[in-house]
Amino acid sequence: MPDTPQEYDYIIVGAGSAGCALAYRLSREASRRVLLLEAGPRDYNPMIHIPLGFAFTMKNAAVNWCYETDPEPNMNGRKLAWPRGKVLGGTSSINGMVYIRGHREDYDHWSSLGNTGWSYEEVLPYFKRSEHKAEGAGEYHGYGGPLWVQEVANKDKLELADLFIQAAVQSGLPYNEDFNGADQEGAGYYQLNIRNGLRQSSARTFLKQCEKRPNLTLETGALTHRVLIEDGRAVGVEYGMKKGRDCESKRAYSRGEVILCGGVVNSPQLLELSGVGNREQLEALGIKVHRELPGVGENLQDHLTINVLQGLHGVNTFYEETKPLTMLQNLLKFLFQRRGLLTHPAAQAGVFFRSSAQETRPDAQIHFAPAASEADPRGNLKTAPGTTATVCHLRPESRGSVHIRSADPASHPNIRANYLATEVDRRTMVAALRKVREIFASPALDKYRGVEFKPGLEKQTDEEILEYIRSEAESVYHPTGTCKMGSDDMAVVDERLRVHGIESLRVADASIMPTITSGNTHAPAVMIGEKCADMLLQDAGIKISLPEGLERISRARKKTQHRKTGAVATR
Ligand SMILES: Cc1cc2nc3c(=O)[nH]c(=O)nc-3n(C[C@H](O)[C@H](O)[C@H](O)COP(=O)(O)OP(=O)(O)OC[C@H]3O[C@@H](n4cnc5c(N)ncnc54)[C@H](O)[C@@H]3O)c2cc1C
Repeated sequence: MPDTPQEYDYIIVGAGSAGCALAYRLSREASRRVLLLEAGPRDYNPMIHIPLGFAFTMKNAAVNWCYETDPEPNMNGRKLAWPRGKVLGGTSSINGMVYIRGHREDYDHWSSLGNTGWSYEEVLPYFKRSEHKAEGAGEYHGYGGPLWVQEVANKDKLELADLFIQAAVQSGLPYNEDFNGADQEGAGYYQLNIRNGLRQSSARTFLKQCEKRPNLTLETGALTHRVLIEDGRAVGVEYGMKKGRDCESKRAYSRGEVILCGGVVNSPQLLELSGVGNREQLEALGIKVHRELPGVGENLQDHLTINVLQGLHGVNTFYEETKPLTMLQNLLKFLFQRRGLLTHPAAQAGVFFRSSAQETRPDAQIHFAPAASEADPRGNLKTAPGTTATVCHLRPESRGSVHIRSADPASHPNIRANYLATEVDRRTMVAALRKVREIFASPALDKYRGVEFKPGLEKQTDEEILEYIRSEAESVYHPTGTCKMGSDDMAVVDERLRVHGIESLRVADASIMPTITSGNTHAPAVMIGEKCADMLLQDAGIKISLPEGLERISRARKKTQHRKTGAVATR
């Protein structure tokens, strides 16, 4: 007998950074039935949990969508890899574990575009509510939230990371002990989503704490094919569940809302598959149009990053740490103490800086890794004693797109990132690379400096450096913006994340960002999930307690509005 379709208050598509946070908050309301659908499997793969394992999950199709861009016109026609998590926790299960919220002006900018409620002052309470800062609460940090965030412990700090920070300070940057605090600029240690030597993904934090709630149903291996739309309202979803070699088609219905948390590639893909998007493109693929929204899949922004590989000697790098005997020691250290090489994130230390004097806030970020590789005479890369600083431009002007190429939900969409499309983007990347070289040339590294493996000191002119960037730069994996929030013609969702023109359908993930944040994108995606939960519950008439501090801000805002409208009325 076929299953009877189930009915829920909320159907969430995608158990990633944002989706897990959303599921956690919504299912706290015991009266609400929540369904969370995840295309990928459970997060059993040990490489997910061992921090350094991210080097292996980056290309593992068992837990990763393994997307790639179309040939990039300004990158010598190269296709760039776009890993995205396809597993519980989504991309937070395969990411670099660096916890960064972005710059306060990012959010003030969103708000200035007309997105009420998204100023820094108004999103900070959501960042804090989600957070458990292991070292304790503060003006900028929360304690007691589901998401574990911690500083690099002194005993785990690498000598080389210290040297790099010293070198950056000698190059004129301030030391910064909290990139998520009052000021972002400077050099310092990152905060991490690592606890006791293990990754703290959204699945291991938010989901783990709510999975057993009786009002939450979680289905993994459930690829949502489309949103069911009737008379302009989302009423449920159709999805496929793998059964052996077959795929069983299922439906789930919602009396409340459907929320897409599929991420920057899959959320616009799902909208298009469901008949929401550019009319011509959808009709060409034989998809019935429910709502013409030309902005779906547009406005794609990403951080392009370029490596500077500096040879070093006389200081420990991964080259020494991965020699067979030391590797064995590292393995034992991990097993018995949860410390050592295997607990290393993508970067322990980093820098936010301004690439030119005209910038009023940092527009470039460095991730610093104590590892390098060098080409042997046959061109094969092998680990070498040295270090890599990878630098990205934080607020690129270039815009790309994601669009389906077929009506088959299993088919990967076309991704055109369009990196380096503008002169500003090209100039900033060149200037940013020069700054990395300046840091590596600082006195703190005099005793250790070897040759520059890449780009190689023979590359000095802007043209030579730009050519190196075109031929070697990669994504630092922060794509955003393909279902942008706003009220202009290209906006996909409004400030309450409701899809324009379709009732009971929202998007909540990194795709809603109108402009990319100045930093890594997991923490902002979590904040978006947190905030969406409150908006959903409020709009359903459920009384909720707002995160600490927000009540006061809302009251102040209402008062100002009241005063303004009062002033108009008496005029
Ligand atoms: C290698 C790498 C390193 C990174 N390092 C960092 C870092 O150190 N710090 C940081 O802040 N950010 C980092 N990022 C970026 C960050 O992790 C992401 O921006 C963030 O996780 C995106 O969250 P999201 O909720 O938008 O989407 P995701 O976390 O990608 O979640 C989307 C989920 O939806 C599921 N899904 C998609 N389509 C469907 C469907 N049709 N049906 C059912 N389920 C579906 C997916 O499988 C996935 O689980 C990194 C990214 C990568 C790839």
